Amino acid sequence: MVASLDHAREALRATFGFDDFRGRQAKVIERTLAGHSSLAVMPTGAGKSLTYQLPATMLQGCCIVISPLIALMHDQLRSARANGIRAATLTSADADWRETQDAYRAGELDLLYVAPERASQPAFRDFLASSPIALFAVDEAHCVSEWGHDFRPDYRMLRPLMDAFPEVPRLALTATADRQTRGDVLAQLGIPEDGLVLAGFDRPNIRYAIRHRDNPVRQIANLMAERPGPGIVYAQTRRKVEDLADKLARETGRKVLPYHAGLDPETRAANQAAFVASEDMVIVATVAFGMGIDKPDVRFVAHVGVPKSIEAYYQETGRAGRDGDPSAATMYWGAGDFATARSRLAEVDEDRRSAERARLDALAGLVETPQCRRAVLLRHFGEDPPETCGNCDNCLDAPAVTEVTELARKLLSA
Ligand code: ADP
Ligand code: MG
Repeated sequence: MVASLDHAREALRATFGFDDFRGRQAKVIERTLAGHSSLAVMPTGAGKSLTYQLPATMLQGCCIVISPLIALMHDQLRSARANGIRAATLTSADADWRETQDAYRAGELDLLYVAPERASQPAFRDFLASSPIALFAVDEAHCVSEWGHDFRPDYRMLRPLMDAFPEVPRLALTATADRQTRGDVLAQLGIPEDGLVLAGFDRPNIRYAIRHRDNPVRQIANLMAERPGPGIVYAQTRRKVEDLADKLARETGRKVLPYHAGLDPETRAANQAAFVASEDMVIVATVAFGMGIDKPDVRFVAHVGVPKSIEAYYQETGRAGRDGDPSAATMYWGAGDFATARSRLAEVDEDRRSAERARLDALAGLVETPQCRRAVLLRHFGEDPPETCGNCDNCLDAPAVTEVTELARKLLSA
């Protein structure tokens, strides 16, 4: 019997205990079960793992998952096993290679996680051929593209490996892929263009605003008053982080702590722990802060200065309001910020410089646009949003057309 979406929904309940699919998970799973290859572009937290883990339990054969980090693989392994999925990893950190290989050959695995450098080894290809493969899943697939922000040369070896098994469907997954990276990932991994499944980037509870910086301490103190509760302030340098944290604490009387790579590890860990546990603390940090922190009730994310790309902006602002409650993402920028950022490009490797410059230009477009911020942001990620969102500074502050004409009339008649 051909596996269908109805069966997938039953398996979703039975294996994961979830009532229904989220966002476009169903679409990706339907394609995979039908034997089609896809590139799934969905934001962090959307539930990309499930789109290969579930088919892995339904299809005949083992799903081979390529993942760039051993720590990531072991996290996934734990959660898959907790759901009763037969999973294993083959990494340099594993001692049970022989057992894993035997289990694979015996067809007793649903999921096998491997690092991309395995892919280039001929012996590995022969090993894979020893048992049926259900699916190739390529996690963090932007690593295959030099346009992506995290290029890994080993990912280029995945295509020849997968081409050796042409009948096996491929599923590439990533959270961050601008148009160029997406096209590149599709081409590099041999996935047809109509295999792109992309959606779910909108965070409707976040109010976006991008304002000129005049007095950042005053401006952020006001933001803190408007949005009581935990907040993150991103600043560009360690010195600015320290300075802002001090001044904000004095100005507001609230608990405000710094976080940057120059602090000793104990202080850094303590400040982070205090923030995660707190209901009203503000942390001033460099971009080093936030990776892997899951705090749902962050009420605002502020940027003092400009991030390095729209992708970085989206990721950093996305730490606000994960609980779905109203939250703010406010950037305070100055005219010199882009000049400084562009001058820093001189230090970037020549082969990456034009891509970095293009990213900065795209960000400048978002900062300078008079249009709906959300629409510009979502279009950047390939979505097709409405013209206005009603929840960003440009939608909220824009003078209504009638007001403008009224003003023009007055000026002309004066
Ligand atoms: P991603 O890789 O896209 O960042 P994950 O695969 O790590 O996201 O999933 C994020 C979280 O969402 C996990 O805790 C996962 O169990 C949960 N999740 C995934 N799909 C569903 C669903 N259909 N219903 C409820 N929770 C889900
Ligand atoms: Mg993931």
